[in-house]
Amino acid sequence: MIRTMNSLSSSMFPFLFLFLFSFSWLASADRHEDFLQCLHSQNLNSLSKVVYTPINSSYSYVLQFSLRNGRFNTSATPKPLVIVTPLNVAHIQAAITFSQKHGLQIRVRGGGHDYEGLSYVAVIPFVVIDLINMRTVTVDVANKTAWVQGGATLGEVYYRIAEKSRTLAFPAGVCPTVGVGGHISGGGTGMIMRKYGLAVDHIIDAQLIDVKGRILDRASMGEDLFWAIRGGGGNTFGVVVAWKLELVPIPASVTVFNVTRILMKEDATKLIHQWQYAIEKFDEDLFSRIFIWRSANSTQDGKPMIQAAFTSLFLGGVDRLVSYMQQSFPELGLVKEDCIEMRWIESTVYFAQFPRNTSLEVLLNRNPRPTIFFKGKTDFVKEPIPKTALEGIWERLEQVEAESAELQFTAYGGKMNEIAESSTPFPHRAGTLYQIHYGISWDEEGIEAYAKYISWMRRLYSYMAPYVSKNPRQAYVNYRDLDLGVNNLGNTSYRQASIWGTKYFKNNFDRLVRVKTAVDPTNFFRNEQSIPPLSSWLLNIATSDLADENFLQCLLNHSQPSYPISSAIYTPNNDSYSSVLQSYIRNLRFNMSTTPKPLLILTALHASHVQAAIICARERNFQMKIRSGGHDYEGVSYVSDVPFFVLDMFNLRSIDVDVASETAWVETGATLGEVYYRISEKSKTHGFPAGVCPTVGVGGHFGGGGYGNMMRKYGLTVDNIIDAKMVDVNGRLLDRESMGEDLFWAITGGGGSSFGVVLAYKINIVRVPEVVTVFRVRRTVEQNATDIVEQWQQVAYNLEDDPFH
Ligand SMILES: Cc1cc2nc3c(=O)[nH]c(=O)nc-3n(C[C@H](O)[C@H](O)[C@H](O)COP(=O)(O)OP(=O)(O)OC[C@H]3O[C@@H](n4cnc5c(N)ncnc54)[C@H](O)[C@@H]3O)c2cc1C
Repeated sequence: MIRTMNSLSSSMFPFLFLFLFSFSWLASADRHEDFLQCLHSQNLNSLSKVVYTPINSSYSYVLQFSLRNGRFNTSATPKPLVIVTPLNVAHIQAAITFSQKHGLQIRVRGGGHDYEGLSYVAVIPFVVIDLINMRTVTVDVANKTAWVQGGATLGEVYYRIAEKSRTLAFPAGVCPTVGVGGHISGGGTGMIMRKYGLAVDHIIDAQLIDVKGRILDRASMGEDLFWAIRGGGGNTFGVVVAWKLELVPIPASVTVFNVTRILMKEDATKLIHQWQYAIEKFDEDLFSRIFIWRSANSTQDGKPMIQAAFTSLFLGGVDRLVSYMQQSFPELGLVKEDCIEMRWIESTVYFAQFPRNTSLEVLLNRNPRPTIFFKGKTDFVKEPIPKTALEGIWERLEQVEAESAELQFTAYGGKMNEIAESSTPFPHRAGTLYQIHYGISWDEEGIEAYAKYISWMRRLYSYMAPYVSKNPRQAYVNYRDLDLGVNNLGNTSYRQASIWGTKYFKNNFDRLVRVKTAVDPTNFFRNEQSIPPLSSWLLNIATSDLADENFLQCLLNHSQPSYPISSAIYTPNNDSYSSVLQSYIRNLRFNMSTTPKPLLILTALHASHVQAAIICARERNFQMKIRSGGHDYEGVSYVSDVPFFVLDMFNLRSIDVDVASETAWVETGATLGEVYYRISEKSKTHGFPAGVCPTVGVGGHFGGGGYGNMMRKYGLTVDNIIDAKMVDVNGRLLDRESMGEDLFWAITGGGGSSFGVVLAYKINIVRVPEVVTVFRVRRTVEQNATDIVEQWQQVAYNLEDDPFH
């Protein structure tokens, strides 16, 4: 299975092997017994009836019952060692204890609709807690609330509400078999979101079992955790046993329509383009969605036509709706005959695409449907997409792989605009015009089909980039998409997770990380896209004054008192910390609020400071980043995924030129500009062959080779280095002789930061004419630039040594 192979980089195989090896006992029938043993010891014999291991004849049936995506139902899909279908909280607590004891991962399953199968697939040994037996829904009409257990489906919730009231509803998703466990954990958009917002906007209490097995409610878990579980994604903070819903008023009769148009491409462009402007003005009582796919039967010039189904739920009567639509979106041509008035509960059956007059009991049916292979993605649109871009979509829908592809455009606005982005982890609120859902399904088995369809979807997604939200390109966590990035099998850094985390949660990601760190610091509840905690090590160092003080003390102990090191240290408490850090950041990609920052910056004033830094960093297993000019393309001289400090060399920048011997000692904190300047101060006929940008630092540039305008005459920078002073990993001060030729060779081109800290290089300065000649000539394509470049390739290599082009 591709997903599995992608998730396992080769470097993880040893880890996985060890892991599997240590659990080899679990691959035998003993695991069943062992689990039961664990339950006996907790007086939970009743649970033995709801434990399934591969030796049970019902194991496959139970596993597949709530499995909704055929991509994760192949023989190669990893299977759980144990499935538990608890009847009560004690069973869940036992499953957590068992999994912790044996180092197994837990996957909680509600309705099993996770787009990437994360509730029943993991690449390391795991247990599924399937909440299918815990799905009671208790509706309190008087208080307009309901308690629903985590294993209930949306259909069950809607049905039970309607059993008790015609005028109460709950704003959540469309598909009745979606489970409240996962759905509400990720947000929950649906047909009345423009009136009431999301499911999470109407959760007023919850019951959660945390990593310690405690049962918490809103009061005992606190507002931070309560905030996080309402949209921060499932399987991250604990097992949600039940949600308390605040029910919303609904008219006794609502109106629906589903108008399908088969359109020439130009007409599809026009109509959908107009829809984008119409929805901005839509009343919040009106929900609007378009399903777009290519027609199976109708063609235009031999190519498929576009089919668009305009679907709406209106919280009012048919007459008001029709007159309203004729004013706000006349282009659709909606007439009374297109519309049906019905009860809200009937509309849930209607939108689930059951035939008219299907019994409401269908909402209680969670029987498995035949599974298809499926992949989905989402985007958020902030401004109407231009017509040319829509035409590009139609072209892609014509491609052969797009036979079963479908796009859904769902209007946002209304109440969604009024709820603050930070009120729940779901951040896609004001400013979102509509959401795009891309879906593709297929029924051919095998990796080739998988690659073909998924690649089509990725191409479309990439095509859409200019027309949708940016920085970050937002996505909806409930339409999970592992293409956005995944956690490592071991620790995942904040920086890595923030790549997908900020797409799902924008700035709320930071708060989610803080909550996760506080409630589950060992990251027990996890999956490929759960929120990672800050590593406990980072946390300890970042928060413990004592740890910092120890480090500072170590620096003091190892540096020369005549050069007080304390004046060279900057911690985040210092006013100058940010300006010191930023003064040598040359790439804004690494100057963002999410960029990890050093716990300390040491601007060394003397070689003994560098020695102290190395010794103390080693002692404390603290990563050191060495910065001279800060021009590293990937910011590696001042950013790290693990706790680190920066040894900044900018105070060590003296340059000592000796014209008589045609040499110079150059400290590595100097810049190329300073080197050139100091040489020219002493001689008009000497220079040095190095890079062009004057602010590039000697440390990194010389350490990596160094080429510039005189390379054709004198070779690279490193070809002109004759000695060096460095501090090695043991804090020893070495020169060329004492380090030996091997190490000297390595530090002249092998890349910075790999072999120690170079304090200074001794260089041969080279002879240059007193006057040189330069030119810079520009040519446009009209002025024959193409031919000139072509010619240049032929002649440049053979020019004399002196000209540099
Ligand atoms: C056909 C279809 C239609 C959909 N329609 C909509 C829609 O209209 N609106 C919308 O917003 N979304 C919709 N979704 C997306 C859906 O909301 C998410 O896939 C949701 O996460 C599914 O919840 P689940 O319980 O069915 O899935 P599961 O696969 O069981 O769970 C999803 C995630 O939540 C975790 N989880 C489940 N239960 C719990 C629990 N009790 N405690 C802690 N973690 C838990 C799981 O481990 C997993 O990580 C749809 C999905 C499908 C496949």
